[in-house]
Amino acid sequence: MTIFWTPRAGLVGLMLCTAALITALPSAQAETAAPPSCAVELVVLGAGQDAGAPQIGYAADPAWQDPQQRLTGSALALIETGTGHRYLFDASPHLGDQLARLDRLDPSPSPTPRPNLGLSGIFLTHAHIGHYAGLMWLGREAAGTAGIPVHAMPRLQRFLETNGPWDQLVRLGNIRLVALSDRTPMRPSPQFSVTPYRVPHRDEYSETVGFLIETPQKRALYLPDIDSWTDWARDFDTRLEDLLPDLDLAFLDATFFDDDELPGRDMSLIPHPRVSDTMDLLQALPASVRQRVQFIHYNHTNPIRWPESDATRQVYERGYKIARAGDRHCLFEGN
Ligand SMILES: [Zn+2]
Ligand SMILES: [Zn+2]
Repeated sequence: MTIFWTPRAGLVGLMLCTAALITALPSAQAETAAPPSCAVELVVLGAGQDAGAPQIGYAADPAWQDPQQRLTGSALALIETGTGHRYLFDASPHLGDQLARLDRLDPSPSPTPRPNLGLSGIFLTHAHIGHYAGLMWLGREAAGTAGIPVHAMPRLQRFLETNGPWDQLVRLGNIRLVALSDRTPMRPSPQFSVTPYRVPHRDEYSETVGFLIETPQKRALYLPDIDSWTDWARDFDTRLEDLLPDLDLAFLDATFFDDDELPGRDMSLIPHPRVSDTMDLLQALPASVRQRVQFIHYNHTNPIRWPESDATRQVYERGYKIARAGDRHCLFEGN
């Protein structure tokens, strides 16, 4: 098979820090303190499927009454503490709430709003609403940003350049599109790189990628949407079970827990690896490797959404973890 990336054999920090620094409390809204020495930190801003929860039309969802139960769309932020630079992975339609969370975790040193929302760049996985529609908040009607670099694959870049209202963001210079290339690292800073990896997904308007985020100490994979692990192996010669041992963190598509989740719908028509199947696929790996999985991008119907559910208990009993908004992971302790 194709080597996904070069294994980092022998790097001492790799195994030493993984367990100690990864926060994975199964709480809904944990906001914990960053390790004081952390130079590059990854923060979970949202862990829901595109539409989040409560989902439109589901009046009985308790999250309508209790904001603590809300789910925002899957997104991560990377904070480089020394420079103050902050980057987003995906621009969820819930970007306003997510940026407020980020600002609580990483407050501005000055009372005045940060220029450009304090964002030095945005990396987009694909053109489904939960992953790019948050760009709308950067335009004239809202923040009116100036030249925020938006990193996108070529089809996604063309889509944004040639379709309203996104083309206006480009024309007015609210965003500046930066081309990504499959499996080609880009290095926004000497402290980390970002490499897109194409994955099979419904690519109506754009390619779909996952991102490998690497520092000198850690590797994290952000892969919120994929049709199936089998298709990835068949079409892109890449096997999840081979990759995981070379990662420290893997944020993986957990849209549905199993096939019983949408009564009355033929779920075979809705591709996405089920959480139960992904756990089966990886179960033969050592516990120290399985615990690197952080399930993310769960649908409002997925019972892992609820920290006290039986499904959540199963995930932890089998040695995996569930990403929750507010989780913080140190990727580089610095020099
Ligand atoms: Zn999605
Ligand atoms: Zn999608």
